[in-house]
This record gives sequence, structure tokens and C-alpha cells, in this order.
Amino acid sequence: MSDPGTIHIVGATDPGRRRERNEDHLAVDEALGIAVVADGMGGLSDGHVASREAVAGAMSLLQGAGRPFSTATLEAALTAAHERVRARARVSGTVMGTTAVLVSLDRGRCGIAHVGDSRAYRFRGGELSQLTRDHSMVQEMVDRGVLTREAARVSPDRSVVTRAIGLEQAFEVDSTEFDLKAGELLLLCSDGLSDMLEDERLAALLSRCGAGRGGLERCALALVDAANEAGGWDNVTVVLARCL
Ligand code: CA
Repeated sequence: MSDPGTIHIVGATDPGRRRERNEDHLAVDEALGIAVVADGMGGLSDGHVASREAVAGAMSLLQGAGRPFSTATLEAALTAAHERVRARARVSGTVMGTTAVLVSLDRGRCGIAHVGDSRAYRFRGGELSQLTRDHSMVQEMVDRGVLTREAARVSPDRSVVTRAIGLEQAFEVDSTEFDLKAGELLLLCSDGLSDMLEDERLAALLSRCGAGRGGLERCALALVDAANEAGGWDNVTVVLARCL
């Protein structure tokens, strides 16, 4: 197994200011250069179980497969997550669903797979770009030109997803690859961050990210704090990664 190059990956999660329970989960394996964020569906029972099982299912497949990870392997990891959530739901006799966004970093190559509205962004040269396209009702309305991106961010329907892990009729993975140059930042987050903070605010916070893993950790906490200061309506989860 070759070395993925020096990568720092950190994560932070918080229940926010309005919710009793945190139904988001995250996992990071810095040695393998992988991270995943999952956001359990609150409208269904056991959202926190769905996100936890999805994260465990995806990480388990990747840790067994070993690097390097193709986009097909990332898709297989989310399929394993789906099967694990389905198996857990059968045992408990409930319906459960979750989003997930999964990333692998290897020498400047960045593979991403996702289901639902948890997002990946790249911060390059002071500019933030969203690397994933939400599987959500409001995203479809934005695509049809009947809703602006800003209106979508505050729409009461913003959390209605059109795809989810754990829901047989709505499971389909998207995957893609991007490059991530040394020093650039990769952000994964649940909608508790992206709904609370506009892109300009996210970019301003990322532009102040300090050096080293310590700088990355402080920046992740600053993002969580900013979402809470903006109201903290939902659980908020952040993963930040940087190649050196
Ligand atoms: Ca959420």
C-alpha cells in the first residue's frame, strides 16, 4: 500500500441549539485519506441509528478494500452503507434513512461519492465551489429555474431529499473526481452548516484557516460555532481536509 501523501483531516459535530439529539455522524481515517459525513433523516424514526450504521458500513468496506480507492469503490462503500442500514431497519422493524457524503484523498486526487444533501466543497484561491449537487426537492426547483439558490437555502422544504441511503426506492449514488492542490481545503458538511451560513460567510471563515492540523481543527470549530451563532437550527457536522 503506497503512502497517500501527507494529508490532514479533522472533523467536528455538534447538536446545534434547537435539537436534543445529534443525528449526524462522521468518521475520519487520516492514514487511508478518507472521511464520511452522514445526516440521519429526522422525519423518520432512528435517524441517529441510520447515520451511525451508514458511516460504519462505508468505513468498513473501505478499510477492507485498501487504497487506492476508485470512484467505483466509493460507490460500493455507500452501497454497503445502504445494505447495512436496511439490515438494521429490518431488525428493528422501522424505516430509516440517511444522507452520506464520502471522500478519498490521494496525492492531489479527490474522489467523492454522495447520496442526499450533505455536501462537499473545495476552497481554492479564495473561492468556494460546491463539488456535489444536492439530491433534494429544492435543488430540482433551482435547476428548473423556479427557485433561486438563496431562496432554496431558507425554503421550508429545504430538507426534503430525493435520494437517501436506507430507502430502497430512493437509493442511487453519484460519484465524481476532482483535483485538490497542496494547501487547498476540502469541506464536507451536513445541511446544518450549509443552511445556516451563506457561501460568502463560509469562504470568509475558510480564508482564515491557520496552518497545520491545529489550524484545521480550529477552523472546523469556528464553522460549527458560526452555524450555532446564526441560530443552530439543526445538527451541524464539518470535515476539513488539506493535502500538504
Ligand atoms: Ca440535517
